[in-house]
Amino acid sequence: MIPYSEEQTGRLTELGAGPEELAAVFADAAQRNQAFQRLECRLVAAQHERLAALCEGERRPFILSLEERLAAALRAEGFLQVHTPLIISRKRLEKMGVFSGSIMEKQVFWLDERRCLRPMLAPNLYECMRELGRLRPRPLRFFEVGPCFRRETQGQRHANEFTMLNLVEMGIPEGESLRERLLRWGRLVLETAGIADWRLVGEESSVYGETDDFVDGNGMELASSAVGPHPLDAAWGIMENWVGIGFGLERLTMSATGDGNVARAGRSLTYYGGVRLHL
Ligand code: ATP
Ligand code: MG
Repeated sequence: MIPYSEEQTGRLTELGAGPEELAAVFADAAQRNQAFQRLECRLVAAQHERLAALCEGERRPFILSLEERLAAALRAEGFLQVHTPLIISRKRLEKMGVFSGSIMEKQVFWLDERRCLRPMLAPNLYECMRELGRLRPRPLRFFEVGPCFRRETQGQRHANEFTMLNLVEMGIPEGESLRERLLRWGRLVLETAGIADWRLVGEESSVYGETDDFVDGNGMELASSAVGPHPLDAAWGIMENWVGIGFGLERLTMSATGDGNVARAGRSLTYYGGVRLHL
């Protein structure tokens, strides 16, 4: 028995074939090629239908409406939305413990000696914690949603540019469980995204040490969290408790839509709203 060829598998995958369809085996090449043509035809028709529904309905990729819904849900809970620079200094990144030679530093897109494209929102949000924190009462809640850049070996779940939603709550009343706060805000985001199957698991992070990750039913990491007081806080002049969660919007999109590839969920010229444009 023979499976689909590599080329056929690639084409069927970009058209959104499921794992069972891709696992089919055949007695000979003739039968296989016939089955391929039938399936390709059916999948192309399905993509046309999906594109038509998108063009008559939402008229934008899922990730854009998701961003808007999440921002509205968080603002309704008292979170301020902040909007900070994409270009950050080496100094600021070093305050996150990202030094020359570290794994994270190698993932950074450097513009020149002193500046890079932000690989995370945390350094800017630490700054907001201090500056807004001087002016506003507690608990103080805010978030940013926007692009981050990492030099990754691109794969199913990693892109060089992606969208992070990072929320922070600081100055939580003594006696309240920080883990409960994490769960509350994590649940709000995941429910708003329409993701029901998730759990919180312990993970090791190169920046924060021990962290809790939100993962979906397939074990895909959707977000990492951190809580303070934290050893990094001193460098930023922060001396109170806080919780923070960073979600990948492409990951949330993949989980909510069932599209198993970051290329469909993120910024793209080959897909529109998850639909392959080469039909
Ligand atoms: P992973 O272990 O999956 O590489 P990470 O732990 O390095 O992710 P974090 O620094 O915790 O990532 O970033 C917070 C969130 O941003 C992740 O949980 C994920 O949803 C998303 N994310 C991180 N890197 C990428 C990437 N290269 N492409 C798409 N999303 C990403
Ligand atoms: Mg992580």
